[in-house]
Amino acid sequence: MHIFISVDIEGVAGVNEGLQGQRGNPEYEVARRLMTEEANAAIRGAFAGGADTVTVADSHGPMRNMIVDQLDPRARVVSGRARPLSMIEGIRADHAGAVLIGYHAAADNFGVLAHTISGLAFRRIEVNGVRAGEPTLFAGHAAEIGVPLLAVSGDDRLEAEIAEQFPAARSITVKRCISAIASESLSPDEAREKIEQDVCEAVQTAADTEVKAPCTPPLTVDIGFGKQLFADAAALMPFVERTGALDVRFVAKNHAEAIGVLSGFSLMASALA
Ligand SMILES: [Zn+2]
Repeated sequence: MHIFISVDIEGVAGVNEGLQGQRGNPEYEVARRLMTEEANAAIRGAFAGGADTVTVADSHGPMRNMIVDQLDPRARVVSGRARPLSMIEGIRADHAGAVLIGYHAAADNFGVLAHTISGLAFRRIEVNGVRAGEPTLFAGHAAEIGVPLLAVSGDDRLEAEIAEQFPAARSITVKRCISAIASESLSPDEAREKIEQDVCEAVQTAADTEVKAPCTPPLTVDIGFGKQLFADAAALMPFVERTGALDVRFVAKNHAEAIGVLSGFSLMASALA
């Protein structure tokens, strides 16, 4: 049984603040280690639950945050950018389930460091009228190719989103959101124990887990950009419809296509900023 794990940083226990996700400062060096250890807890849980191969994708910012020589050597690692499937790159139809670790609530929701793909680029993303977070898109792609979302870790605001969009998935809540940059968090040790245990149980029942994406193609993607200039640039593409000063719309034939366009727009916004 193959299990796929995608790891972000904002939803890791003890991470609250933007600097913890940014290279070049001592806070980041601590946070990337916390991220690596939560990934290890999920990898241990997956193997204990019956996986015989585990692929883990480093999925924050530059996508090379985890300290690879401290990762469980049984796992295969996807790292670096720009990846066609971004945070879910490496998933295959023969995977038995997907697990998201260190995730966070969607742009335009409450949540610790809530955003979707890029806090700079996007103020809000909606897919078929549904407020889209990263699980909506990336676990949506997994579901589209037949892979169920098994478990997700992060804060209590993310838990509420998952309950609505992926009711079959298990939420592993490691912190309570107090503000955009404050939380009441489990200790890293307790968070890892909980992740290991819950991922193990979720993997054991993978075969019975419902496979369902919250949005079904074709996908109408509505974007509210953070700056008018980003919308100006996006609207240069022939498939993009301008819907407002900061807003555009496009239609994607599947999740992979939507992910590709959004990743491109995110890179474009960073270049323009
Ligand atoms: Zn993220």
